Formats: sequence, C-alpha cells, structure tokens
Amino acid sequence: MSDCIFCKIVAGQLPCSKVYEDDELLAFHDIHPFARVHVLIIPKRHIETLADCLPEHEKLLGSMLLLAPRLAVEHGLDTGFKTLINTGRDGGQEVFHLHVHVFGGGNPVDRN
Ligand code: AMP
Ligand code: ZN
Repeated sequence: MSDCIFCKIVAGQLPCSKVYEDDELLAFHDIHPFARVHVLIIPKRHIETLADCLPEHEKLLGSMLLLAPRLAVEHGLDTGFKTLINTGRDGGQEVFHLHVHVFGGGNPVDRN
C-alpha cells in the first residue's frame, strides 16, 4: 500500500523508533504516546483492520499478542499494561494498517 504510513515505515521510507523486528512483525514507539510507555506492534504485510483478518491470519495475530507482554516487561511494565486494537472509523482507528497498542506506566514523558 503505497500511501500507508506504516507500510512506509516497514519499507524504511519513514523513520521509526524501533523496539522489535522479526520476519513478520515490527514494533516501535508511538509518535504521540498516551502513556509513559506506548509501543505499536504491526504486521509487516499490509492488513487494514482486525475486521479484515481471516483464519489464515491466526498465527500472525497470535504472534502479535504474544509479543505484547514481552515488550511491556522489556520497557519496565512488570506490574501490568494495557493493549488496544482500534478497528474501523467508528472504532477510533486512524491508521488503517493493523496495529496493537501496548501502553502503561503513567503519563507520557516529553521526548523532545
Ligand atoms: P489508531 O488510532 O489506533 O489508528 O492509532 C494510530 C497510532 O499511530 C496513533 O497513536 C499515532 O500516534 C500513531 N502514529 C501515527 N503515525 C506514526 C508514526 N509515523 N510513527 C509512530 N506512530 C505513529
Ligand atoms: Zn500498510
């Protein structure tokens, strides 16, 4: 998807603050964090929303969810964290490339 921000990040055409990468997934800090820790886990291949997922995506979705607690702990969220998947316009989704928000730890820090 040539006009997709997250596909451009996957392709290296836009920068990101990467925290994890493997063959199928990429994770990076959210550019506008709403918690002290706020990372996004995305599949490298373009899937617009959770509602577009098919049975063939079962393993990919499992990999995304299993990565969440690992990244949470790596970022100091040992006592708990939140996950969020906004789906569709009325679900608050702004970037139409599937992603899991992983966040916690109180108010965001000023990254500037
Ligand atoms: P959603 O509302 O679930 O679609 O969330 C999209 C998220 O992507 C928002 O929290 C944005 O702050 C974040 N975001 C948008 N552009 C970028 C970017 N270039 N790098 C990192 N995060 C981004
Ligand atoms: Zn995309």
